[in-house]
Amino acid sequence: MRIAIGSLQCEGNSLTPVHTSFEDFDYAAGTAMYEKVAVAELLREEGCEVVPTIYAHALPGGAVVKKDYLRLAHEIADGLPTEGLDGVWLYLHGAMCVEEIGSGEAYLLRMIREKIGFNIPIAVAMDFHADNSDEIPLLANYVTGFRTAPHCDREATQQRAMRALFTMIKKQILPKPQISRCPVVIEGDAVQTAQEPLKSIMEAAEEMERTVPGMLCAQVFNGQPWIDEPYMGPNFVVTHESDTALAKKCADKLAKMFWDARHDFRFMTEALEPNEAIRRAMQATEQTVFLSDSGDNTTAGAAGDNAFLINRLQKAGAKGVLIAGIMDAAACERCYRAEIGDILELTVGGSLDKRSESAVITGRLIHRGDIISYQYDNAGPSATLDCGDMTVVITKNRAAFCRPDIFASAGLDCTKYHIVVVKLGYLFPELAKTAERSILAFTPGSSTERLEDMGLTRIQRPMFPLEDNFL
Ligand SMILES: [Zn+2]
Repeated sequence: MRIAIGSLQCEGNSLTPVHTSFEDFDYAAGTAMYEKVAVAELLREEGCEVVPTIYAHALPGGAVVKKDYLRLAHEIADGLPTEGLDGVWLYLHGAMCVEEIGSGEAYLLRMIREKIGFNIPIAVAMDFHADNSDEIPLLANYVTGFRTAPHCDREATQQRAMRALFTMIKKQILPKPQISRCPVVIEGDAVQTAQEPLKSIMEAAEEMERTVPGMLCAQVFNGQPWIDEPYMGPNFVVTHESDTALAKKCADKLAKMFWDARHDFRFMTEALEPNEAIRRAMQATEQTVFLSDSGDNTTAGAAGDNAFLINRLQKAGAKGVLIAGIMDAAACERCYRAEIGDILELTVGGSLDKRSESAVITGRLIHRGDIISYQYDNAGPSATLDCGDMTVVITKNRAAFCRPDIFASAGLDCTKYHIVVVKLGYLFPELAKTAERSILAFTPGSSTERLEDMGLTRIQRPMFPLEDNFL
């Protein structure tokens, strides 16, 4: 079997004015991409001839700059041979937005179909938060996704898509996935697969796969709410070897289950207005409390440069605070021109997203160094200022302190602080393991948790919770 592989991902956020460009991607071309994806071993075992294209993953962010997207998409599509190809495996996000183009996934799949036609199977692995348009299942023969949120099955998902591609090639079938939608938006952090009501819906999908003969995949996608497009929202994609009517029936059943459960979703952590979140964090008896700045969540595409919580915590007189971190290139560069031990007065925040607040901080420079990124590569320089009651990590680039290894790369030990402020929503599993307690603050910003604050104008209406009882 001769199989082409490619991967292009950036979870989009239409609400932030900060665009994503080529430099923001962790990029590997040709055989260098093997170590970035989880299917090299499977391909080897199966004795496949592999056509590698590119792997490019960016931290969630605003729309990808059109010319940079086209460069990356062309590197995948142009890398495909027009003859002698048996299948295409893609690992995409499903919520990529591109300047003037819209869905980066739909555009890429169209480009690929134009190149290879419709007689070669394409299997796609995606994120659980994919906002699939109706076009996606018309362009791919198999669409699967993560089954955990927070995500801990990235590798299994990629491998499932590859095994399905092997099956399609061996059986010489070209399945037609069927999609069903549910006009519901639930706050991202209230949707966790191990908790009800989602747990039962995930189990129903798994049971369809297990018990229905010929069923290849029954996939629940929650979508993510920061995409201002008509296709934003939960979608259910079911792929059967040959029976499209049955696949559609199963997709409809999952959509109906989600609709019926719409009133039952709850935040899994304490989720509070900012002042109340600060008050509870300050009074907490635990050694360390994580405080999520959910409106400026870089893993949901926000800029990560809002000093909103710095200002509120200063005003409240909070002690033992670690700000991890705030993005400000100029302030970070200033720290690199100073000496360790110097006392600096800096203005931080508001440099990237003009709606973000800035704050004035004064402290001693105690640490400098490159930090590890969300994608496990280098996120660039960071500088840490000890301001007495507050320690502030300033990063040159947008960053996400979502795993203990990232804190360690900045020389930080969270247990030394009482309140650790992170630019996240829910804590990532690796960090949650270390957190005695976490509180989510409903702060303002591009990743606001509240649909009514998002200002979306292009989404489908009616949409729960803006409207209810319309189906
Ligand atoms: Zn996701």
